[in-house]
Amino acid sequence: MFLRELTITIDHLKGAGPTSIRALANAGITGVGSLLCQYPKDLEDRSKIVPLRDFNLAPVCTLIRVLAHSWFGPGTTKTLKVYVEDDQGTRASLVCFNRPFIEKILLVGNYYRLWGVFQYRYGELQTSVFEVEALEPAAPQSVFGRILPVYHLHAGLSQGMLRKFIRQALAQYAGPVEDEIPEPIMTREGLLPKARAIRAIHFPESLEELEKARQTLVYEELFYLEVLVCRRAKARGTPSGNRRGPEDQGAPPFHPSPLQRTLMERLPFALTPGQTHVMGEINRDLDGPYQMARLLQGDVGSGKTLVSFLAALRVMEQGGQAALMAPTELLARQHAENAARLLEPLGIRPAFLTGNSRSSGRTALLKNLVTGDIDLVVGTHALFSKDVAYKNLRLVVIDEQHRFGVVQRQAIMGKGERPDLLMMSATPIPRTLALTVFGDMDISVIRDMPAGRKPVKTHLARSSNEEKVYAFVRGELAAGKQAYFVYPLIEADENKGLKDAQTMAERLANQVFPEYPAALIHSKRDEEEKRNIMERFRAGAVRLLVATSVVEVVVDVPNATCMVIEHAERFGLSALHQLRGRVGRGKDQSYCFLIYSDSLTEDGKTRLKVMLENTDGFVIAEEDLKLRGPGQIAGTEQSGYFILGIADPARDSETLEKARADAFAMLERDLALPEYQCVARVLNQAPPFGDMGL
Ligand code: ADP
Ligand code: MG
Repeated sequence: MFLRELTITIDHLKGAGPTSIRALANAGITGVGSLLCQYPKDLEDRSKIVPLRDFNLAPVCTLIRVLAHSWFGPGTTKTLKVYVEDDQGTRASLVCFNRPFIEKILLVGNYYRLWGVFQYRYGELQTSVFEVEALEPAAPQSVFGRILPVYHLHAGLSQGMLRKFIRQALAQYAGPVEDEIPEPIMTREGLLPKARAIRAIHFPESLEELEKARQTLVYEELFYLEVLVCRRAKARGTPSGNRRGPEDQGAPPFHPSPLQRTLMERLPFALTPGQTHVMGEINRDLDGPYQMARLLQGDVGSGKTLVSFLAALRVMEQGGQAALMAPTELLARQHAENAARLLEPLGIRPAFLTGNSRSSGRTALLKNLVTGDIDLVVGTHALFSKDVAYKNLRLVVIDEQHRFGVVQRQAIMGKGERPDLLMMSATPIPRTLALTVFGDMDISVIRDMPAGRKPVKTHLARSSNEEKVYAFVRGELAAGKQAYFVYPLIEADENKGLKDAQTMAERLANQVFPEYPAALIHSKRDEEEKRNIMERFRAGAVRLLVATSVVEVVVDVPNATCMVIEHAERFGLSALHQLRGRVGRGKDQSYCFLIYSDSLTEDGKTRLKVMLENTDGFVIAEEDLKLRGPGQIAGTEQSGYFILGIADPARDSETLEKARADAFAMLERDLALPEYQCVARVLNQAPPFGDMGL
């Protein structure tokens, strides 16, 4: 029997009454198996006796004799204080807040075991956080003399209760629990049998045993995670050669199909080597008999959109439809306009669909999607609305993929019959995520930029020097160029003491640059206004665009050469990088000014320095990870792919790599082999991680 099969209910445990059963159920614990999977969050080593004078190595576990009782504080709220001494003569006092009954437990002159967290206060060694136990007779469930688990508590649960039930469950039910890791791997890794690992993770005999137990459970968890990842990849039938590492090595050369060739011939430029390489990979996937699942990473401005159009052309040539989904209406509209400009001349019928699409046009559009009279639909999350149906959706492209959650990805994928998937992102993902969350995907990277781009020159300026920056921008405007000004706030907020886009738009337009037309754009303006402004900015009728970070992922205006970000220290690294990527998109030298206030935090300073010294988005993303820690990688917090109980892919990265290699090797052989029998049985039960998303 596997641990997961231990569904015997909690009421079989001695001492489990309705109250504790309800409290456990509220914490999601209904059966003995799930109880035993509540791994401790921490442990207290009470296996050694530590003298009181070593309290600073605390918490301390020691033997004491009670010297005296005393009471302090007013009348009814009197507090008991018990003076004790250990066998080395060190004295301490136990402050019994809300525990007057201890008077009857700790009798003067008797000996006890004591565990407590001590500190020096008012000239004496004190504790108010302590537990005691009589020396004789030793209680069978003693909390002394051993390594004790410390659990996460939910309402109505206590450490004592969890320890009691878990100890009982271990004794009564855990013995026959079977191993879930194939025997050869257990031997190679020196892992513990599952029954022992599960006992030792709760009540280890030694710290060494605990570590072994942890290794065993971590391995098991990561192994099954990777087994599922690998199975998902296999279910798509992808060639197994790409599956070992996340980056595809042996891509075939790019042989453009007729429509792809036509588009390329009409472009005023050639594809970059990076784009060409990726197109080789994508064409192979699209033509192959399997479902593509590819994550395309490339820095801001590396030309991912064009790659997605070329991919869409291939699909449409074969009679399929493609959907390109973007996180904001503004960005979707820009893609739609590009699609119209680049693809319509080739006889492709593109359409644009958002939540705001007008009802009459929308009805016709939806009809054309069903009949197949639209080849490419570009839009926001509206693309997977209930009433949207496709005739033959063959390719789903998700731009800025980290802005979407798993559920949304699944919803759009569900509109087709196993459509190919291309996810795009300018945010590089670290290796642990590449092996887990994206572990079944192929990853393509565009590392180069279109030729002729000059790196943006970045300058830092104190806010007191803003006039100098304005003067420089004036020169660029006079030379016919355009500029962005970005602020952290939409409107004035007295409490924050920051410049805001609204106020600054007026000031810049009326006082600083009265001779140039300016406009204001932010998330609160309606879509129609935003579109209007963007159009006029692109056409050059607006020369100065004042904005919040909404322009982060939006605009492509090659004539804009200045990006001025005020209160730059307020923005995160990836936002700063994205914003800077709005300029430097044409042939002219571009500039980014990061204006900072005097009240600069250390973190803010570091971010600005990173921006000053780096232009490579991958390097900036690595720095960002270092500053923020891996827990906060964009898009993963909401990913909901799986919940790990004990493993931490970042900390356990070596185990992760091993477990992945083992899982892939196993599935390349044969699950029917005797040594894999346990795996086959586990997989036949409810899979350990439920539905893993895509
Ligand atoms: P991103 O990867 O940030 O989405 P885009 O797809 O928006 O980048 O491309 C940025 C700009 O570069 C667009 O104006 C696009 O037309 C242009 N571009 C794309 N590929 C090339 C290329 N090979 N050579 C020159 N310009 C290119
Ligand atoms: Mg893009």
